[in-house]
Amino acid sequence: MTADAKPVNLLGLARQELEAFFTARGEAGFRARQLMKWVHHHGLSDFELMTDLSRNLRALLAAESEVRAPEVIMEQRSNDGTRKWLLRLDDGNCIETVFIPDDGRGTLCVSSQVGCALDCTFCSTARQGFNRNLTPAEIVGQLWIAKSRLQPEPGRSRTVTNVVLMGMGEPLLNYDAVVSAMSLMMDDLAYGLGKRRVTLSTSGVVPAMDRLKDTLDVSLAVSLHAPNNALRDQLVPLNRKYPIEQLLPACKRFVEGRTRKQSVTFEYVMLKGVNDQPEHARELVRLLRNVPAKVNLIPFNPFPQTRFERSDPATMDRFRELLIVGGLHTITRKTRGDDIDAACGQLAGKVADRSRRALRFSRMEEGLQ
Ligand code: SAH
Repeated sequence: MTADAKPVNLLGLARQELEAFFTARGEAGFRARQLMKWVHHHGLSDFELMTDLSRNLRALLAAESEVRAPEVIMEQRSNDGTRKWLLRLDDGNCIETVFIPDDGRGTLCVSSQVGCALDCTFCSTARQGFNRNLTPAEIVGQLWIAKSRLQPEPGRSRTVTNVVLMGMGEPLLNYDAVVSAMSLMMDDLAYGLGKRRVTLSTSGVVPAMDRLKDTLDVSLAVSLHAPNNALRDQLVPLNRKYPIEQLLPACKRFVEGRTRKQSVTFEYVMLKGVNDQPEHARELVRLLRNVPAKVNLIPFNPFPQTRFERSDPATMDRFRELLIVGGLHTITRKTRGDDIDAACGQLAGKVADRSRRALRFSRMEEGLQ
């Protein structure tokens, strides 16, 4: 390595990439397997502790590479067991990651970008604009950190059993890095999560949904939030580019080719007086009639200066019942981590350079290439 070359961060390399890293240095490919276990199963970053690698190889690794996750600069714990970590990246930007323990499962909500370009009107991440994509190491690093920080707690799942790409950012606008990171999450030599346990949530980047379908078998969640284009255009501006009549066929295509029975989870944030009326529920039933769908109603989580309010519990119950009567499998998501602002759409992090917001739609195009 020349003096100014940056060390390769091995944390984000998928199995084949790591094998290529070793073979390019005259080492056997199986070294990749050994290293992955140390890094992902045992959470090690110090090559000296990787005792089945020769002294020479450890020296070579230390000279040319590193295993480096983002730095934890704050950890918050909610009364309900939810944990939130504020992570600082190399360039000073910050992102947030949330762990949500529930009966028998532990879900990690992972960020895919610093900020977000999509500008959904009810989302606090949108407020800070878009800064940049995360690297695979920064995405997998969130899981690496969570695993190493989760200690046993009585009665609560302390391990990560599920990952949802529902933190900051639009994962399908950071396609390559997100796919690499998810494949590592699912690799037995890393985290070994099953395909039902890794869920990508998208606002509906239709071409990338089709690409993903042919690349990786993961679960899909789609942020629908409205039963018609007029309303969805207002809430999720990406709808103007990929309207519902393109989005729903893409959802169907996503699950059709699968051997396992699969459905798409449609997220629907409950906004008082905006999208929560009985006619919206009926329209949603008609809309999703021929789509293998589950509906996840999300109570809106307020943040400073938002013009939206959360729907009343009775309105949400009524809405849910209308969906169920209409034949839609529907649940209302519990709000978690309220006391530490860890709930959906509240992840704000800190963006070093807000001026990049202007690039919004051109960035969206870039993400598709
Ligand atoms: N960009 C992706 C993933 C990140 S958002 C997407 O749009 O799906 C994860 C989920 O949280 C989305 O369904 C999003 O619409 C929802 N969300 C955003 N802000 C929210 C808020 N203030 N209250 C409740 N849910 C919110």
